[in-house]
Amino acid sequence: MATAMVFAEVLDGKVSEITFELLDVARRTVGDSGTVLAFGVMPESMGSQLGKADAVLLTPSGTDYVPEALAKILAQAIEAKKPDLVLVGSTAVGMDVATYAACKSGYNSIAYVQGIAPEGDGWTAQSLILGGKMVATVSVPQFSVLQVVAGVGNADQGRGEGSPAMEVFTAEPAVRTEFQGFALPESTDVDITKQDVLVSIGRGIGDKDNVEIAEELAGVLGAVVSASRPVVDAGWLPKSRQVGKSGQKVKPKVYLALGISGAPEHLEGMRDAECIIAVNTDPKAPIFDIAHYGVVEDLLDFVPLLSEQLQES
Ligand SMILES: Cc1cc2nc3c(=O)[nH]c(=O)nc-3n(C[C@H](O)[C@H](O)[C@H](O)COP(=O)(O)OP(=O)(O)OC[C@H]3O[C@@H](n4cnc5c(N)ncnc54)[C@H](O)[C@@H]3O)c2cc1C
Repeated sequence: MATAMVFAEVLDGKVSEITFELLDVARRTVGDSGTVLAFGVMPESMGSQLGKADAVLLTPSGTDYVPEALAKILAQAIEAKKPDLVLVGSTAVGMDVATYAACKSGYNSIAYVQGIAPEGDGWTAQSLILGGKMVATVSVPQFSVLQVVAGVGNADQGRGEGSPAMEVFTAEPAVRTEFQGFALPESTDVDITKQDVLVSIGRGIGDKDNVEIAEELAGVLGAVVSASRPVVDAGWLPKSRQVGKSGQKVKPKVYLALGISGAPEHLEGMRDAECIIAVNTDPKAPIFDIAHYGVVEDLLDFVPLLSEQLQES
């Protein structure tokens, strides 16, 4: 019977959503006969949020974010408990700690995992490589740390109260880093992660002046305009509107992709949208591989026409 340890991520005093996703992935990976052990560096009062785990191991601490300390404590917890698998979110925090902890405790390290399933006595995982251009199917030996990307697990399945056994794990690593402060970027802009409908523009929009046609369509739809990175790099929209690997991860009901090719770094931020509609002059654009509906048209012709038709209806 296998044990999967879930690294419970805490950021700015809150348990991150990815933690609940990982609890779901862990349960599906080890089954009901296996053990899901959640491990977090957090105040004891937060442990009850990890109710879907069979057991919770906590290193009580304040909520200051010191990556060096976190990585060293995780390594010590792994060494103490020797779980078969360790699941860490493929997030900024997860990336800070997972590889160090794996190396330090002699575990294998598998990054960008977008799926894991039992096979024979072990497991296989799908790992995104080359920035997501290819997927490698790899055997997962016992004693592996996996960095799992968002969207693999169902957070609702992993969230819930319960009465897991709680254990305090005392760790006092030697740390050279000192916490100075935690700063979130100031934003007076809309939050694109909270929108039902996004009208997203890519390099195909051609020129800053054309952004207006997307804004008009968004106005008609009650939507917000977001963008791929080149549009933000060109300064046509603020960084807060960028979707993708180095932008925001969005999950709207409708995602209209206008003149966006569908590079892996962009797809990483929007592939979980409920309905993806792509408009692109190139019928072979990769965005069409994941779009539910596709329009092969010049967006500069199509979008104003669509706004007009919607206004009339
Ligand atoms: C580490 C790293 C992080 C990155 N992070 C991000 C990120 O967070 N977000 C992101 O988006 N990218 C990111 N990128 C960049 C990414 O690799 C792509 O370069 C980028 O997504 C391409 O944007 P695009 O689709 O708008 O442009 P392009 O790839 O140039 O595609 C433009 C598309 O518009 C179509 N088109 C042209 N004219 C028209 C027209 N008139 N009507 C209709 N269609 C038209 C073309 O056929 C083409 O498919 C990152 C890259 C790296 C290396």
